[in-house]
Amino acid sequence: MTNQNVVVSDGKSGINMAITAAAVSGSSLFTTAAQKPPAVPGTSYITISKKKLLQNLDINAAAAACGGGGARINAWVDSMRASSPTHMKSPPPLSGDHQTSWTMQHPSALDMFEQITNASKGKQIVMFLDYDGTLSPIVDDPDRAFMSESMRATVRKLARYFPTAIVSGRCRDKVYSFVRLAELYYAGSHGMDIKGPSKGSIHKKGAEAVLFQPASEYIPMIDEVYKALLEVTKATPGAKVENNKFCLSVHFRCVDEKKWIELAKQVGSVMEGYPDLRLTQGRKVLEIRPTIKWDKGKALEFLLESLGYANCADVFPVYIGDDRTDEDAFKVLRERGQGFGILVSKTPKETNASYSLQEPTEVMAFLRRLVDWKKSALRNQFRMRRRLEEINMFLPN
Ligand SMILES: [Mg+2]
Repeated sequence: MTNQNVVVSDGKSGINMAITAAAVSGSSLFTTAAQKPPAVPGTSYITISKKKLLQNLDINAAAAACGGGGARINAWVDSMRASSPTHMKSPPPLSGDHQTSWTMQHPSALDMFEQITNASKGKQIVMFLDYDGTLSPIVDDPDRAFMSESMRATVRKLARYFPTAIVSGRCRDKVYSFVRLAELYYAGSHGMDIKGPSKGSIHKKGAEAVLFQPASEYIPMIDEVYKALLEVTKATPGAKVENNKFCLSVHFRCVDEKKWIELAKQVGSVMEGYPDLRLTQGRKVLEIRPTIKWDKGKALEFLLESLGYANCADVFPVYIGDDRTDEDAFKVLRERGQGFGILVSKTPKETNASYSLQEPTEVMAFLRRLVDWKKSALRNQFRMRRRLEEINMFLPN
């Protein structure tokens, strides 16, 4: 087996795998030095011990050495379990201190609304929104992950005031069929399929309609693996394979949890023949995509560049997402030192996001406040301009 098949999202496989394994063992409340968020005065940060990190690196090495065997399959499933909704309803018991520490490190974006908008003053806010679990609730049937009319109306208003992109692991056409707003940017297949608004956007800074597909050469391979996965997973009731054009999702949402290992083994058996593909876990889903270094973080950077904000100091990107794959985008924002990531989660999770929101209803409340704040700011600007014009009229020449 090659490292591409290990449960990681990028080339820094050792560290990320260590994080996965530790999360499985119930201590998901840690960070590593490399990912440590900025210090908040008066709070302590939980760090993983060196001994534990080395222990987890051993697990990684063992999983890699066994060539795709049981350890690797178990790690996939355990990691998926740790981030799946049913488990988040009954998370492992946490001490009050841990919960408080996490909340202090990742406070509610609603509670911190004024601080966020103050930090954005004089800058152009650009909004990036994940779809599943962020704009729509996670439901058993992925084909029925509809967003509410009120959420759609909110996102429509949002796009009037800020450039807005939907960034999803889903096929772009699929996510568009759920959102149905032509004025947005869409980055489907984890950012491997990007398109600009099909309806005139007022936010373009000289950019043409974007269309970027860095993994198009993989389409035949993805089709082939899709067919193979459909065949092998037939035996597992409830298993659903989704073809996202540039990547694939194997949904575990409707599969009896006792059958998860069996289904993961079926996926693993197909993956063994494709070293150019890699596998990541999400909430009740295993995702397969090309090994190319392209993810939601790269998509965010590409879209900022397309909008004309490549090297601008006056841009303020806000990315809201709930899944492990969104961490790539949170990390980009942290590294750029621009804007913020907001994690949608009811429970503490290791994350590069700065703030948190608990569920899609809170996301909607946050987006509405953002729209109201911008409207009011524009109204004040308009009044101020009128006042100045009136004063100028009465001033002697
Ligand atoms: Mg999501």
